[in-house]
Amino acid sequence: MGWELNVAEAKDIYLAESDLWRYTQHFLMHSHHTTTYKYILMKALLESLPEVSESGRLTFLQVTRHVTKIYWNLTVTYQLGQLNSKEKRSSLEQVIIEFQRQHEIPREWNFDKIAEPQKALLIKNVNDIFKKYVYGSFYKSFDGTIYSFHKKEGWLQLTAPYIVFFEKYKRILMNVTNYQLALFLEKYNTKEAMEKILTKVEFVSARQSLSEFQVLLKQYGEERCFYCNRAVKKSHVDHFVPWSYVQNDVLWNFVLACSSCNSSKSNRLAHTEYLGELVARNSRWLAFDQMETYSEKKLVHMYDYAIQNGFLGDWRPREGKRA
Ligand SMILES: [Zn+2]
Repeated sequence: MGWELNVAEAKDIYLAESDLWRYTQHFLMHSHHTTTYKYILMKALLESLPEVSESGRLTFLQVTRHVTKIYWNLTVTYQLGQLNSKEKRSSLEQVIIEFQRQHEIPREWNFDKIAEPQKALLIKNVNDIFKKYVYGSFYKSFDGTIYSFHKKEGWLQLTAPYIVFFEKYKRILMNVTNYQLALFLEKYNTKEAMEKILTKVEFVSARQSLSEFQVLLKQYGEERCFYCNRAVKKSHVDHFVPWSYVQNDVLWNFVLACSSCNSSKSNRLAHTEYLGELVARNSRWLAFDQMETYSEKKLVHMYDYAIQNGFLGDWRPREGKRA
């Protein structure tokens, strides 16, 4: 129920952290699921957090870009059915599979490989379905506490307590969402499709290549390793705050790194002095493309929340920093 709502206002009530846990656990454990729609929306919202506006707003299209990527990789690349039936397909799967056939896109292609105009078209189709069936019913699953939304204007606005809650417990929430998603998929898919299912759902949104960002970083003037300041022959694109926390590829979280720094930093955060340097760099880039979602406050919060989520924040380059 709830899917027929066109506009809804989030309840204006006080929410303690225990309330947020209760609503979220209830959603994960008890809401009735006939497809994976709601789990995927939960994943997409967690992924979209670095894009929320000052007031907590996300356009449906911003969220749907994540939804479409996840669905494409699950249904086309991994051949995992998303409905509580082994014979039938959900409307969303039908749209995606039909699109893949019509445009003759190879099945083994990851979503990233699809050309941008085709992606935009597919996202629009997926958005129509999600708008119609999912945002309203997801809202109901959280008893109207999670966001306001407006279908005609095409946006949702997360309430402030949920934004903080999601950032603070993002890794745990992503883990349980992935777990519930895997549990659902297990019931309706073959053993072959289920092979390495936890790895599949954990990395379903990870990019296979960051080379488009490398081009952009160089274009914006980056040429040395951000950490050790050495000239780099073969540069790597590094998520300053690790991808496994951010779950998003926003340009303002990318730096160039040499092989040695990139591999030794791995899943850690660099020392706070580097945070200061990234803030300074980004403030010079404010007018550039792909910086629309940036604010200094957001980056600093992201760094602090990653530490709260268990990431270590003490990494420095092995050989120190060259002046
Ligand atoms: Zn380096």
